[in-house]
Amino acid sequence: GSQSFPYDHLFKLLMIGDAAVGKSSMLIRFTDDAFDEHIQSTIGVDFKVKHLELNNKRIKLTVWDTAGQERFRTLTSSYYRGAQGSSWYHWLKEVKLYSPNNGEGVVKLLVGNKIDLAEDGSGSERQVDQASAKTKTGVQESFMEVVHKILEDPDLLLNT
Ligand code: GDP
Repeated sequence: GSQSFPYDHLFKLLMIGDAAVGKSSMLIRFTDDAFDEHIQSTIGVDFKVKHLELNNKRIKLTVWDTAGQERFRTLTSSYYRGAQGSSWYHWLKEVKLYSPNNGEGVVKLLVGNKIDLAEDGSGSERQVDQASAKTKTGVQESFMEVVHKILEDPDLLLNT
């Protein structure tokens, strides 16, 4: 509804990554505990809000989704396309380009979603946090890891 809660901190999180990796799905799993196989990824969601209470602090969490804009990333990305699994580098570069202080003051978490599809067990060899918006694995944990990192950093907390 239109209910608004008082809060001590306002956190803004962004979902960034290639199209169709499950950014919207992870967000919807986190905020609504739901999953839709037939989600319209071109539409996406603008942002969702979640209220948390941690360390006696009320946190209003806004998580922003790309709403499909990642499809239109610039041509320079073709440079990174050659090697499998390297597109994270493109996105990290973007974060550094557009964030204050060259991205230093931003908590970043790299998550490998759709771990449920790695039926051969290869998922266990992944070098990044594992998640599945479908089976719930790791979704809550990923978001909370970022929230806790912000909470524990006085410099970051200052601006919230
Ligand atoms: P986005 O473009 O990164 O926001 O990706 P979407 O959230 O739109 O997801 C793209 C497609 O992948 C949709 O058909 C989802 O249902 C599916 N999907 C998302 N997360 C998972 C997951 O963890 N496991 C599986 N099997 N499918 C997923």
